[in-house]
Amino acid sequence: MNKIYSVGIIGAGISGVVTALQLADNGIESVLFEQKNSIINGPPFCHLHAGGNLYPDISDNECRLLLKQSIEMARLFPHSIDKRPTFISVPKSEIYNTSDIENRLNMITEYYYELIENDQYNEVLNSAGNYYKAYTESELKQLLQLPTVNNPESLDEWMINAVKLIDIEKLKTPVFMVQEYGWNMFRTAAQAQLALNNTNICELKTNTPVTKINDVRNKKLGYNWEIYTENEIYKVHYLVNSSGYMTGKIEEPLMINNERLIEFKAAYVSRWEPQPGLLPEFIFHGERGTPHGMAQLTPYAEHYYQIHGMTNEITLFKNGLVCSHGNNIQPTFDNEINQKIWGNWDKSETQSRTQKAIEYVSRFVPSFHSATPGAQPLYGVQQVRGKSLSRRVGEVSFPTKMYARCEIIKASSALTVANNIICKLAEEGIYNGSVPILKQNELLNNILKSEVDILASEIAAKRGYPKAMARLVVEKKKEGNGRRSSN
Ligand SMILES: Cc1cc2nc3c(=O)[nH]c(=O)nc-3n(C[C@H](O)[C@H](O)[C@H](O)COP(=O)(O)OP(=O)(O)OC[C@H]3O[C@@H](n4cnc5c(N)ncnc54)[C@H](O)[C@@H]3O)c2cc1C
Repeated sequence: MNKIYSVGIIGAGISGVVTALQLADNGIESVLFEQKNSIINGPPFCHLHAGGNLYPDISDNECRLLLKQSIEMARLFPHSIDKRPTFISVPKSEIYNTSDIENRLNMITEYYYELIENDQYNEVLNSAGNYYKAYTESELKQLLQLPTVNNPESLDEWMINAVKLIDIEKLKTPVFMVQEYGWNMFRTAAQAQLALNNTNICELKTNTPVTKINDVRNKKLGYNWEIYTENEIYKVHYLVNSSGYMTGKIEEPLMINNERLIEFKAAYVSRWEPQPGLLPEFIFHGERGTPHGMAQLTPYAEHYYQIHGMTNEITLFKNGLVCSHGNNIQPTFDNEINQKIWGNWDKSETQSRTQKAIEYVSRFVPSFHSATPGAQPLYGVQQVRGKSLSRRVGEVSFPTKMYARCEIIKASSALTVANNIICKLAEEGIYNGSVPILKQNELLNNILKSEVDILASEIAAKRGYPKAMARLVVEKKKEGNGRRSSN
């Protein structure tokens, strides 16, 4: 192939796709390779970590970054955000103090005020004054007396529905209702695919694994890298490695070294018909990796619920966490984990882990006991740069010339990654437009919610999940294409 592309991107997960779309919006030509048959088909995401409230152990700075980046992504993918809040609680058995949680929520609220002051369009998580609300035991008991609200809007209304189902005797008070929303991966994939369909500045190659990279930076060929696929060799000036947990596989032969952890995790899908009113997401904090790790119950449409339980019996796996060492830049899993990554789950294990997940949640939500397995698990591998599993924000690094390595831990970091890459392209002379400060993407903005509705349900079905999981729990009242003068 004689054409020379400005940028070659390996991997069409959220980081590769958002990078490609931002490049296209800035008129920078790229070729995007994905080994699977569709984009954003890697580890699942369901929660917009807008404030980091699922992680009591991370730093205040990481919480602020998660808030800022989540707001950016909610603005980029408005049709994927499920605007229902998250109920956050600490069981009496756990060490976390509710006062620490409240102090942090106050810090995040202050930062949210600041972000809105800087840009009014950042107000995507309700007003800053309504970012969260704390509820004492007596307030909960009063709310318990009120009738279920079918379509809750205020935090109190969401709490009325929640408190009817939880065993408050088991929880420390206050408990909290926080504007951390759901984030639907099927819908994000659909909006991104529709946006990519509308541009020829990015060539998307699905079903196209990259098999080898040739570094020709010193050969004065007029380009810097050769990207090998089964049938072609692509020439590019700049290389973006956004291959997720396989980052090291690309880097090993290029002798670009870095320490990393990779972790295989799974969430389980169940069905449960509790009561007519909509429910928030539920979080019951606990120490990760112990038999009482955090329990997370995420609502989807039509009574589907996704469950995470941060124990080795549910979401985490024995031998599910491996790290790089020495010259082994790409950490490797054992065969048992690899089989799961490739989708070869033993039926009885799926059944028993889902059942354990249901029982785990029913410790705090007794009626959830009646839930039944609803679909195959959602699973994947998360990468973390360095050796500390407590990091929750990972971004992009530039370990050598004409090369970017994306190592995001949460899907919300994707726009920061993309914009940093464009800055670097300007620095390295590949791009001579103005460096972007854009928080919006025209290609994404032009996609209608109705188009997303259709494609997202097709994507869910093709991947073997109920079509209902591609719908939002809180349906937006009117059609909008998100187009606005917010740049
Ligand atoms: C169980 C679980 C739950 C999670 N929940 C959340 C959540 O609620 N919220 C959140 O923000 N984050 C969540 N995450 C993290 C989030 O899923 C990841 O941060 C994000 O998906 C990573 O995106 P990525 O683009 O960096 O990598 P990936 O999505 O892994 O994309 C990499 C892509 O590269 C492709 N690829 C690899 N090698 C090659 C090659 N040689 N040639 C061509 N293509 C290649 C892969 O097929 C893949 O599609 C969760 C992760 C897990 C495991």
